[in-house]
Amino acid sequence: MKDLKKRICLLGSTGSIGIQVTDVVSKFSDRLELVSIASYGKNINLVLEQINRFGVKKVAIFNENEALKLKSLLNNKVQVLSGLEGLIQLVLDEEVDIVVSAIVGFIGLIPTYEAAKNFKRIALVNKESIVVGGHLFRPYLSNIVPVDSEHSAIFQCVDGKRQYLKEIVLTASGGPFFKVPYEQWENITLRDALNHPVWKMGSKITIDSATLMNKALEIIEAHFLFNIHYYDIKVVIHPESIVHSLVVFRDGSYLAQLSLPDMRLPILYALSYPERWDSDFERLDLPKIGSLNFYEVPKKFRSISLAYSVLSKGGVYPAIFNAANEEAVNLFLNEKIKFIDIVPLVEDVLSSFSDNNIDNPNIDELKYYDNWARNMVINLAIKSKMFYS
Ligand code: NDP
Repeated sequence: MKDLKKRICLLGSTGSIGIQVTDVVSKFSDRLELVSIASYGKNINLVLEQINRFGVKKVAIFNENEALKLKSLLNNKVQVLSGLEGLIQLVLDEEVDIVVSAIVGFIGLIPTYEAAKNFKRIALVNKESIVVGGHLFRPYLSNIVPVDSEHSAIFQCVDGKRQYLKEIVLTASGGPFFKVPYEQWENITLRDALNHPVWKMGSKITIDSATLMNKALEIIEAHFLFNIHYYDIKVVIHPESIVHSLVVFRDGSYLAQLSLPDMRLPILYALSYPERWDSDFERLDLPKIGSLNFYEVPKKFRSISLAYSVLSKGGVYPAIFNAANEEAVNLFLNEKIKFIDIVPLVEDVLSSFSDNNIDNPNIDELKYYDNWARNMVINLAIKSKMFYS
């Protein structure tokens, strides 16, 4: 049986998703094997625990110093790599069948793209890579199974019926501020914003879920993953987070995927695809849930219209959008700017872009504009006196 196991390389093993992936691998240890893991290096103790628990033979730690520290704690049976090169080596390993790309942020693009170019099967969690470099992944889409719950839902609904897809309806929980009037956003604290009503996630995506930038990124992700015009991607607020998204077929029929909000399910689906394996994950109790509600997205969430505007321009705009958001969220997480300043900063960066746009930018061009947008966030935050500490 061992030889038939799917061999997994897990990028971002110490993150919220990474830990849930290891949970799925443990539950399905007769079918899945974790062969390599990667992280930044902030939690070496957890990396050590994962190495011992899964008998991992290759590890990549992005931070060189932390990689050296880890090396000194291990015998030479475990190979420790570092830097971006380490991440790339890990995904290209012949021993790997599936790369789970669960690093947070733009940096995830590089190893994910390397894996795609080498025709690896990818369980895609790092939405930033497809947002920024969607055009680069076009030839490799058939090897990508999305894990983002909305895109997993769409993928499951259109499986085998892709040519009849007319419209996508992405659901959004609405985050903690769906019902909070915009006038009160001025006083939102970091603690308020990190308190998501449904999902427990890493800090960046939790803030993105509060501004609905996460949904904006998902509109772009859906456009590239399912090759669908952005006019045909809609968003509705669905606070219960039971319907993970819907598709509309040409004949007007809707299909939705429902389950409890538990990321282990889309993870399992991506790892077992095209099969479906028996699981003991908690099932839906529909009478107990009682009702499912859907609302229009309130206008105060300006992030949603930004996504359509970015897609209408294309080229390097998605990269600028993503980088500006990453940097603005970073500033907020470090308590340098207010929550209410995040989206306006991203808007200002996008409107400051005055170079000629580039069609189908390559990796170096994407890196250049990623960097440009990050610097621009800092400059504009200083100029607009947004820094408060
Ligand atoms: P976390 O912040 O919890 O984890 C991020 C992971 O990435 C950590 O393992 C971190 O390592 C690692 N990492 C960060 N930078 C690097 C780097 N330069 N090199 C190698 N590893 C790095 O994030 P999440 O798990 O919440 O999110 C991960 C991705 O999944 C994001 O793209 C997010 O949008 C997406 N996603 C997450 C969902 C969720 O429920 N959390 C749902 C849908 C999508 P270290 O611990 O050392 O810092």
